[in-house]
Amino acid sequence: MSTTSARSARPAAAGRASFDSVNPATGAVVGTHPVHDAEAVGAAVAAAGEAAGWWAGLGFDGRRRVLLDYKAVLTRELRRIAALAHEETGKPIADATLETVLAITHLDWAARNARKVLGRRRVGTGLIGANLAATLEYLPLGVVGVIGPWNYPVFTPMGSIAYALAAGNAVVFKPSELTPGVGALLAELFAECVPDRPVFQVVTGLGETGAALAGHPGVGKIAFTGSTATAKRVMAACAENLTPMVAECGGKDALIVDADADLAAAADAAVWGAMSNAGQTCVGVERVYVVERVYDDFMRELTERARGVRSGEHYGPITMPEQTDIIRRHVDDALARGGRAVVGGADSVRPPYVDPVVLADVPEDSAAVREETFGPTLTVRKVATVSEALERANAVAYGLGGTIFSGNPRRAMELARSMLSGMTAINSVISFAGVPSLPFGGTGDSGFGRIHGADGLREFTRPKAISRQRFAVPGMNLTSFSRSPADLERLVKLVTFLHGRRKS
Ligand code: NDP
Repeated sequence: MSTTSARSARPAAAGRASFDSVNPATGAVVGTHPVHDAEAVGAAVAAAGEAAGWWAGLGFDGRRRVLLDYKAVLTRELRRIAALAHEETGKPIADATLETVLAITHLDWAARNARKVLGRRRVGTGLIGANLAATLEYLPLGVVGVIGPWNYPVFTPMGSIAYALAAGNAVVFKPSELTPGVGALLAELFAECVPDRPVFQVVTGLGETGAALAGHPGVGKIAFTGSTATAKRVMAACAENLTPMVAECGGKDALIVDADADLAAAADAAVWGAMSNAGQTCVGVERVYVVERVYDDFMRELTERARGVRSGEHYGPITMPEQTDIIRRHVDDALARGGRAVVGGADSVRPPYVDPVVLADVPEDSAAVREETFGPTLTVRKVATVSEALERANAVAYGLGGTIFSGNPRRAMELARSMLSGMTAINSVISFAGVPSLPFGGTGDSGFGRIHGADGLREFTRPKAISRQRFAVPGMNLTSFSRSPADLERLVKLVTFLHGRRKS
């Protein structure tokens, strides 16, 4: 069993460096890809800039036709995409299939809703502007650079790519060096629909390739998914050209179990939310807070289920070999500081696999509770009330997703609204990610900006506001040096009439 990392480039015979993507379960080379240097990235951005004009010119209906065509191609090639994602990440084919299906539903939604969300519409002008007509529309930015992660190599980048394309932008996508084949395949399949124009290109390579994309002045926006630390570096590169950015970073999501929750369902959700994809999910469950009245019953349900989950069968290996060191550090530190391993333990980390680990009574200031573990591990803590659970859930620097299990819909909604996160699921786990009309993104160390939904479409546009004077209003000549004191007096009277009355 090898844990060979793809994280080194080597010069190729032809002069251009290349690197391999490697199956993390077997160490077998899956594919060899070029390292695109700054010059190659610049050429891709320049070509995308030209293609962007053509793509924007197709209008909403033209783009919708192409994107629905692309959706059909992806759907027909679903098994091929899933097989490659399985090879590059090690995740089960079923999971790779599921993420591809979700990506397809997002592409469909973005294609069908772009006109409604972004198209030109008239907006009200108010009484003071009664002589004006106002329109608002959302125009493309030109070239969007997408820097993607390896944990969901289809679903996650497609959350930016589909919405950026539907909004009328060309895309240059830099997939993670661990999953370049999947990225290249997504672009290759798009080229079946648009063979002559580089509307969607992929550049491959290591971190430097992504840095060249982020720092290129021809890029209108960067959509980044990855760690908070790298997001800061990307943001610094973007600052050079004042390039805006969406940052989808990690999380430390909590699941709260209320006293009247369906405990079997909550335990099932906690185990799947924490262990599926070997815990390598930005919105995966990493912490559970359980009201004391039901703690013992919940733990029985949880441990029984977690003991039935097997690495190598229900989920794959740790995709990024270095991650096992982080997982080991979190587990060892938790145990050294008085935590109890209820399921698994220090021996569960056996690269490239990590068996399920459930830790109880871990101090709240330890790494396993505060830092993103990104492994199939879970900390569980008994709390007196759901208010305490919420307080603890909100006490970390991250704020991406979260989950509430409660039998009381009103209290569940109150808790969900008070959770410091971009998304919260009630009585289900991660369900928000599959609803294309819901925006996805975080707060705090989890980043900013949104993909998915109407907000995700607008994210890749610039609002264009136009006001047109339909007729001049005599005696209200306000934006001219010929304005008289009487004009101003009339304005003050009007504004006093409109806004001068107190309501209480
Ligand atoms: P990174 O944040 O390092 O990488 C994410 C993407 O950014 C990759 O495509 C990477 O390319 C690229 N990149 C790296 N350095 C730069 C740079 N200087 N400029 C531009 N792009 C760059 O994540 P890792 O893959 O190293 O994972 C580390 C941690 O990030 C994980 O342990 C996990 O906690 C978190 N993570 C969170 C994800 C999420 O979904 N929120 C997804 C993945 C990771 P390359 O792969 O070639 O280095």
